[in-house]
Amino acid sequence: MSIAQTVSCLDGYDPDALRVDKAREAILACLTPINDSENLKIREALGRVLSQDIVPHIDVPAHDNSAMDGYAVRFSDLEKQPLKEIGTALAGKPFHGKLGAGECVRIMTGAVMPAGADTVVIQEVVKKEGERVTIPAGQKKAQNVRYAGEDLKVGTPVLRSGKLLTPADIGLVASLGMGEVRVKRRLRVAFFATGDELASIGAPLKEGEVYDSNRYTLHGMLARLGVEIVDMGVVRDDPAALESAFLLASRQDVVITTGGVSVGEADFVKQLMAKLGEVLFWKIAMRPGRPMAFGKIGNAFLFGLPGNPVAVMVTFYQFVRDALIHLSGRNDDALPLLKAVAAENLRKVPGRTEYQRGILFRDQDQWKVRTTGQQGSGVLRSMSEANCFIVIEHERAAVKAGELVSVQLFEGLA
Ligand code: AMP
Ligand code: MG
Repeated sequence: MSIAQTVSCLDGYDPDALRVDKAREAILACLTPINDSENLKIREALGRVLSQDIVPHIDVPAHDNSAMDGYAVRFSDLEKQPLKEIGTALAGKPFHGKLGAGECVRIMTGAVMPAGADTVVIQEVVKKEGERVTIPAGQKKAQNVRYAGEDLKVGTPVLRSGKLLTPADIGLVASLGMGEVRVKRRLRVAFFATGDELASIGAPLKEGEVYDSNRYTLHGMLARLGVEIVDMGVVRDDPAALESAFLLASRQDVVITTGGVSVGEADFVKQLMAKLGEVLFWKIAMRPGRPMAFGKIGNAFLFGLPGNPVAVMVTFYQFVRDALIHLSGRNDDALPLLKAVAAENLRKVPGRTEYQRGILFRDQDQWKVRTTGQQGSGVLRSMSEANCFIVIEHERAAVKAGELVSVQLFEGLA
């Protein structure tokens, strides 16, 4: 099905006043995730997308073992004290005998539980005289024992295809003794900036020019997503140059451009996009970031982002990021929206979703959020100072200090 057909089936699809959620839905409806995969050594697989289910072929831990340094005992023997110490179990050096009535074994953390023992008593509470071991009252049956398979169980899938591999996942795979995993190939993303007013770093700034910053923020955002990046530089608003750039870029999985999609823009960008592929031009009910193009050139998905530096970042984070994650074959949940108390009045009109740049901060026991000040879509400093977006929903009007607002954090742990 063509892109136009797919999106026209969606309820409430209006290219001239598209709600953010509808635009997201329209994009996702058109995408097909990549399916090619490769084997990688597990260290290299960090940040890649798993392309197999991981199903343990061994239990982890493989044996019942001690969680503490102490004495392995038979719980029912604790009434027949003192116990007799008959040997030692170390991590990696099991005790091979079997505990008989009234016997115990000195045991270290991680050592296999000796046959017959069911409980570990920590060494700090034990009294020892020669081989005679006395244990105080108050012990619980089975305490301080880790059971075979309590972490990973043979046959129970632990990681699913589509999982973005985290440090914990890599460790988990290692704990199964696996040295390689199958991952999806990396998504290839080409991008370029358009505009006759753009100067490149290193060149002197002529009258009316601005240095191209969009390519650098885009590069950073793409690098964080772990995709393969093809930076095609700045392309002038010149039909022949643009046409060959688009054709070259469309050999990759995704093409991202900035600039040239605004209403009344004299650029050739829109005309060329429309000529070379199946591209829709949207006016999205959002701020910043109203104009955006989405479609296909050849087999590549195209995102034509606005030119304003903040609008580039907002449209990237709100649409392109999700799309790239989906295309990469990842099955992540959507990022959480948290609630915080507005520390000041926030201007807003109903009928569009706003992404104000916010600073989330702690005020005694409460998380509060304020804006970074000037919210113009050319003020890139606002993105640099912010640590979150304040997401003000479509229907919502101005926010009063003290009301709850949604925030989307910029940074996470992993
Ligand atoms: P446009 O969408 O092409 O009309 O651009 C909107 C605004 O963003 C203009 O003020 C441009 O100068 C600015 N702009 C466009 N591309 C870039 C870029 N790559 N880096 C910095 N600013 C840009
Ligand atoms: Mg332009």
